[in-house]
Amino acid sequence: MFDSYNDGECPQCKLAPGPAVAMELNREDHWECPVCHLQMLGSGGQVLILRERGSGNFKEPRVLAPHSIVGAFMCRQSTEDPWGSGGYFRSAEDLRTFLEQEVDAPDSTED
Ligand SMILES: [Zn+2]
Repeated sequence: MFDSYNDGECPQCKLAPGPAVAMELNREDHWECPVCHLQMLGSGGQVLILRERGSGNFKEPRVLAPHSIVGAFMCRQSTEDPWGSGGYFRSAEDLRTFLEQEVDAPDSTED
């Protein structure tokens, strides 16, 4: 069953086989995945998944998202309001489509 709640782990890396990756706070105060650089915003009951990837500029000392984010509802960033929600994800496929088609491609040499 699709889990639309987030516990501070990268939702994109979670779709792939392999270990879960904890998001970390970057210098813009966004949560960012150290592997695919997906960014999330928020800390309360809801997190927004951003369309723009981070640049790996993390805070020192490291601040890990699983300490702050527990059971937050995942929403996509609105196209009109960068601080607003554009709705939730109905399924893993819905989340995957958003990550593949709306979020910037990961900065990588793979295709
Ligand atoms: Zn990731």
